[in-house]
Amino acid sequence: MFLSERARAIAPYTAGEQPSDKRYVKLNTNENPYPPSPLAAEALKKFDADRLRLYPRPDADGLRAAIAKAEGVSPENVFCGNGSDEVLALCFPAFFDTDGKGACFAEYTYSFYDVFARFFSVPCVKIPMKEEFYLDFDRMGACSCDGYLIANPNAPTGVGVPRGEMERFISSVPDRIVIADEAYMDFFGESCVPLTACYRNLLVVKTFSKSYSLAGIRCGYAVGDAALIDGLFRMKDCFNSYPVDAVCQEVCGAAIADAKYHAETVSRVVAERGRLREALLALGFTVPESRANFLFAGRSRLSGAEIYRQLKDRGVLVRYWEKPFLRDFCRITVGTREQNDVLIAKLKEILA
Ligand code: PMP
Repeated sequence: MFLSERARAIAPYTAGEQPSDKRYVKLNTNENPYPPSPLAAEALKKFDADRLRLYPRPDADGLRAAIAKAEGVSPENVFCGNGSDEVLALCFPAFFDTDGKGACFAEYTYSFYDVFARFFSVPCVKIPMKEEFYLDFDRMGACSCDGYLIANPNAPTGVGVPRGEMERFISSVPDRIVIADEAYMDFFGESCVPLTACYRNLLVVKTFSKSYSLAGIRCGYAVGDAALIDGLFRMKDCFNSYPVDAVCQEVCGAAIADAKYHAETVSRVVAERGRLREALLALGFTVPESRANFLFAGRSRLSGAEIYRQLKDRGVLVRYWEKPFLRDFCRITVGTREQNDVLIAKLKEILA
């Protein structure tokens, strides 16, 4: 009885399970199976607890400078938030009006966009995909909207759009903002960050959760024209002045400076992704080519939910959705070689 109408009516996003009942081979939330950079671990160990008496730097200047250096931009072009989910959330009030034409995104994409749009009362325009898996840029360009969210690589399909194709689209809609959600981009290597210097309508959002193995610390960032970054700061300061804590600023700053370790970890995941996809194809799964750290796999006469249940009984966690089309697939995070071998062995058991 104390809840607002909004709180009662809204359907929140459902995060993947983080079970504590037993140890699973956990391939359900696209975490990185390898540890964070030793430099990040060192920064964490050296962190002086006395510093926690004080509030952190509200604008995360030191971390923004480290990100700017790594991304080849200036600090005024960087915004940091508590996970890229928070950065994406702030994009809705920053760039879309409640009585505007709305935010456009693909029919099958990151389901949080829909939740954010409803939470911030921003209309949304959903565009069907071409042959289920591919963005229909012609329809997106022709629709009536104020801007776009494009997960690239897409979730949960893993399909990636090369930078050249993104640039053609971004340049064709100069009066509309394009928010490229590059949570998984480091596993593809076609980031649009270099285009932010040329296109004032482009904002790229990235995260430390995936390729940097730091999902537990909660840090994401946006790169774009200073005017867009200013819009995000205006929203942040209406909501939480200190979204990035002091430990996080230190640890993520150290992680992003360790380019060598990052590249090595990414290439290990990418190599395993190829091997795992081949194994799934050999078992008769349909698996679109993935550019992310997960595979979207479906098999006729077995729903995603059924695969999930049978694998969970055998100690392996994957993710599924109860939605048209998506329900025929499950999403499998690329694990270590050993974890992937367990997954394949369990799938063979199930299919037998
Ligand atoms: N974008 C996409 C496409 C994602 O799949 C995720 C992870 N669920 C995020 C953004 C958010 O990641 P984080 O908040 O951990 O940065």
